[in-house]
Amino acid sequence: KDLLLRVEGLKTYFFQRNAVLKAVDGVSFTVGQGEAVGLVGESGSGKTMTCLSLMRLVPQPGARIVGGEIWFKGDNLLELSEHEMREYRGHRMAIIMQDPQTSLNPVYTVGEQVAEPVRLHLKERGQQAMARVLESLRAVRIPRPELRVGQYPHQFSGGMRQRVVAAMGLTTQPELLIADEPTTSLDVTIQAQFLRLIRELQQESGTSVIWVTHDLGIVAQMCDRVNVMYAGRIVESGRVRQIYKEPQHPYTRALLDSVPLMGARRDQLYQIEGQPPDLRSIPEGCPFWPRCPEAMDKCREQYPPRTSLGGQDFVHCWLAEPGG
Ligand code: SF4
Repeated sequence: KDLLLRVEGLKTYFFQRNAVLKAVDGVSFTVGQGEAVGLVGESGSGKTMTCLSLMRLVPQPGARIVGGEIWFKGDNLLELSEHEMREYRGHRMAIIMQDPQTSLNPVYTVGEQVAEPVRLHLKERGQQAMARVLESLRAVRIPRPELRVGQYPHQFSGGMRQRVVAAMGLTTQPELLIADEPTTSLDVTIQAQFLRLIRELQQESGTSVIWVTHDLGIVAQMCDRVNVMYAGRIVESGRVRQIYKEPQHPYTRALLDSVPLMGARRDQLYQIEGQPPDLRSIPEGCPFWPRCPEAMDKCREQYPPRTSLGGQDFVHCWLAEPGG
């Protein structure tokens, strides 16, 4: 597949009074056109900060992108002016966040909010804009959109609100959609419907999607490839089928072992021992060693190099090195 996005050595740090928190520390990955790529890991692994960095929306003050490149086709987004970047946000790339409450403004109608990116980026107004708004609400399967455009967010259920947020993100037909745990606040049935919907829209429009999640079940359903993040870095990357069949990194194996299987009892689920490291003082060597059942002396001393697993697939673990 042709590349849409290529991230190289991205670093985003938080500068605190007495410490530097390395939230994203040398992340590299690619997204092909029309491809769905997962970014998985526990909370605090740097997934969301990676996505906010792609949009150049890192929290201010405090966070700064300190290194790397983000190539969107021929443009390095980190070299664009703020004005040029605004053209990208909401137009060529859009983000759907976890909680629709924070993405929707309670004092504007749903129609006004979905129309906003249409006005801003497509410069459409009046009836033309309204036609596009209705089309987007129909696309996300909101019943009777002519009636619903005049209503306020509180008049929608949680699942319907998340659809409105998706409509806002998709209305300008972005080339890249970042979905940051968009189903966390939804119950299981609504979640399944929402996932199916995004999958269909993706297939219809050819949009590329980055799925940010801690849920490997969602990755299995939605993604072609997956990047596993730990302590601000990608520790394993590969095709979903391959990684589920033969995970190479002990952390990936642990994540897969903690996925509830049909019929498995919750109390029998494997729990990953210990806590992710404090990003202000990441241990020397492989950051996973304090929790890794297979850690060796070498793991405590040196960060494992990138070992290619063929194609674009790779892992950072001493076990995968020759003689490991
Ligand atoms: Fe475990 Fe060592 Fe591999 Fe890190 S490098 S995951 S500590 S075996």
